Formats: sequence, C-alpha cells, structure tokens
Amino acid sequence: MAPDYDNSSEARTTGSKPWIKPTIVPLRSGSLNKFGKAHDSSWTDAIDNVPVKDLLDQYDSPLFVFSEQRLRRNSQRLKQAFCARYPDVLLAWSYKTNYLGALCNVFHQEGAWAEVVSDFEYEKARGLGVPGERIFFNGPGKKPEALRRAVAEGARIHIDHLDELYALEKITKDLERSLDVTLRLNFDTGYTEPWSRFGFNVESGQAMDAAWRIASSEHMSLTGLHSHIGTFVLEPKAYAVQARIMCNFLDEVESRTDCNIDYLDLGGGFASMNSLQGIYLPADQVVPSVEQYAEAICDVLLELTHDREARGMKRPTLVLETGRALVDDAGYLLTKVIANKRLPDGRRAVIVDAGVGQLFTAFWYNHNVVSTRLLSGRPEETVIYGPLCMNIDVMRASIMLPPLNVGDTLLFTPVGAYNTTQWMQFIEYRPNVLLIHGDKSVSVIRRKENLATVTASELIPEHLVRACPQGDRIGGGDTISVSDAACEK
Ligand SMILES: *Cc1c(COP(=O)(O)O)cnc(C)c1O
Repeated sequence: MAPDYDNSSEARTTGSKPWIKPTIVPLRSGSLNKFGKAHDSSWTDAIDNVPVKDLLDQYDSPLFVFSEQRLRRNSQRLKQAFCARYPDVLLAWSYKTNYLGALCNVFHQEGAWAEVVSDFEYEKARGLGVPGERIFFNGPGKKPEALRRAVAEGARIHIDHLDELYALEKITKDLERSLDVTLRLNFDTGYTEPWSRFGFNVESGQAMDAAWRIASSEHMSLTGLHSHIGTFVLEPKAYAVQARIMCNFLDEVESRTDCNIDYLDLGGGFASMNSLQGIYLPADQVVPSVEQYAEAICDVLLELTHDREARGMKRPTLVLETGRALVDDAGYLLTKVIANKRLPDGRRAVIVDAGVGQLFTAFWYNHNVVSTRLLSGRPEETVIYGPLCMNIDVMRASIMLPPLNVGDTLLFTPVGAYNTTQWMQFIEYRPNVLLIHGDKSVSVIRRKENLATVTASELIPEHLVRACPQGDRIGGGDTISVSDAACEK
C-alpha cells in the first residue's frame, strides 16, 4: 500500500486545482492486473480531427458520433481481405447491428446488399432504396404478408423452419411464381454453442429432409445455403469448420436432390475490437484481424470447391453478413461527468449523463473509456454509473481513472454495434447521433428525442386527458396526445 500524497503539493503551488481527499490505494506497478491495463493514460480531444468540445457545444451531451471514413475503410478492408483470397464475394449489411439509415446507405454505397431479420427491417431496407433482389431475408418470425411481399419482390428468403417452407409453397402457388430459396442450417462446429434454434439441423438429417421437400415442390428451387454460427466469435478456426460442413452439405444436397447451389452465406459474428467482460486480456491481444478470418474461410472454400471449377461449374458465391466488425469501432459515445461520490466501501464512483439505456452493450463489454483532456493525479479504482434511477445502470464496473471534475467529458469506444438499435427510451431521452464525413463536416443522422417525439404514439382516453380534476377541459374528440394534456393551473 502506498499513501496518496502526490496531488497536494501540486495543488498548493498552482492554487487552481480543486482539493481532493487523500486516499490509500494499492500500488499497481505492473502493466496488467485483474481489471485489465493498470491505467491507460491516453486521452483524446478530437474524433476524426473534429474537436470534441465543438461537437458537445453544438449538439449536447450525451452524444453518439460515427465516422463515415472509418465505416468505408472497414468495409473496403473486409472486401479486400476476402476478394484477395476467393474469386466471388458479396457483403450484406446486417441491419440489426445498426440500422440508422445514413449508416446503412454508407454500406450500400460501398456495394453491400441488405441482410434483414424482420418485417420492419425489410421495410426499412426497401425504404432506403434497396431493391428486393438485393435483400437477404433471415429470421424465424417472418409474417405471412412480409413473406408474400418478399416473394413478389424477388428477395432471397432464408427459410428457418418447416412452417415457413409450407407458407412459401402456398404463396408461390397462389402467385404462380417460381422462387429460388435458401436453407438456413445449424450444426456443431465444436467451437461455439450451436445456435440450434435457427434453421434446420444438419447432423440429424433434418436439413436434407427439407432439401428433399423443396426439390419435390412445384415452384421452389434450392439455390443457397446459409448459417450464422454465433456472434463475437474469437476463433477463426470455427469458421473453417463452418465452411467445411457447408461445402460438404452442398456436395451432398446437389448430388442427392439435383439442385444447383449458387451461394454459401456464412453469416456474421467476427469479433470487433471490444473487450468482452470476463476476458481480461486487452482486445488487441485476443481479437483476430479480418484477414485471419478470411484466411480460415477461404482456404477451406478454395480447397473444397476446386473440383467444381475443374468440372466447368462456377464456384459458389461467398456471402458475408458481417455486422459488429464493420461498425463497432466507427462509433463513439461522449458523456459528461455529473458528479463524484464515495461509496460506503471506499470505492470512488462517478456519475455520467449517459446510461445503459443508451449504451446497452455496457452489460457485456468493458468499453475503453478515455478522458478528453490530460488528467493528472493518482488513478484510482472507479465505478462509472449512468444517470438512471436503477441499480443496474453501470457503465463500467471497475476502471482505473485519475480524479475527474464535474463537467469533464469521457469518451466510450467502441460503441457502434448494437447500441443505436438495442437502446431504449427509458427514463431519459435518447441523444443526438452524428456522422462525421470524410471532409470533416458533420451531420445529425438521428435527432435527440423530446417529449413530443417520445409521446407521439401515445393516446389518452377522454376521461383521462386531465391530470388535474378542476379547470376547463382542453382539446376535444375521443383521444388527445399527451403533450397537449398539460395541467393548466
Ligand atoms: C446478427 C446477425 C448477423 C450479424 O452478426 P454480427 O455478430 O454483428 O457480425 C449476421 N447474420 C445473421 C443471420 C444475424 O442474425
């Protein structure tokens, strides 16, 4: 244990630093401890060379910021990694990872098709201008009307279960339309928990039975195979096994049912530069590069599709639905310190103005947290809480940070994946989301919420319109929106 004296002399000489209560903290001399790095003294006052202070002055805190340049670079790097190793590659943007329209269109401009898993996401992709034929429609819950639309618009439907297969038989019969379909497969790679609730199982013969059923249907042809083995998969070998199982199934299904498979879709799941809770090594030591994933997959594909080429057939197109690895490190969250406090067990706590309602992934990841100014003073174990009146609102359970002042800004990274889709309006409004363009100009791509936007879908029956019993009734009709229903005193 070492006494913490070092602030006091400095504070006396400058006279400007606030007095900080001396505390006793364990001295951590190594570069690593059970919390990760003992203290990361790095700080940054700009994102893509745009000063953080300017962004906060204009757009308020908390604030999500995305880098268009990074999105494009990530997309180009992934494409390059795979195209250098396999002749026919197609990327499809996973909407649920981040479906902010501006972001989706960055990926579409880079050549990606859309990968959607619900009626809403399908509509969203169509609304952004993606043609039906460029949509891969996954998911176990496609509704009949959405399926009908997808069939009519020529979308690539990835069948999840037999009832969906029957529904498609009926739709294609009604519309008298032939349809190319894809089977979603599940199987055990030995590396990840098999996601057996999605698609048809290979080992049990269920997938082959479904292929037979398609082969005997009047209007459908099996032309694609899909699987998605998990998310944040840290082991490239898992994808090598996945590719092998899918290639073997491809050979088997083609020879037994006389179909012609045009593409193999390996789904998503490549890890991003993030630190999963429970893994204590830094992300840059455990997360493979996209090139490593590409090598694992393409080596197997090249080997197992080689004799197709020899027989004058096309190698199947490799489809990737990479989500988090493309978008996570392009997203930043800026949040301001509201207060400091000392917990009864002696730990230091900091309350910031963004909580888990906005940063949903704080439940699973230890994000990097850096200050936007150079901090001085001894780092101390700190818990970072959000502003919600909920015990679960923990942004970082434990991090070494020097003293912070009220009004200081912290930058959380990488936060681009699954936050601006899984976030919720709960207690607080959701903040502005910005996109910094290549020329350093900035656009708001999702406006901060306010009372009117949050209550826009609410209806209040007439007898509940007023919170206060006295006074004249305002408005008329059967229902009235909440924002009009203020109490007049
Ligand atoms: C979620 C999902 C993806 C994207 O996964 P990431 O882990 O974000 O790469 C791709 N395909 C399917 C079918 C998914 O459900």
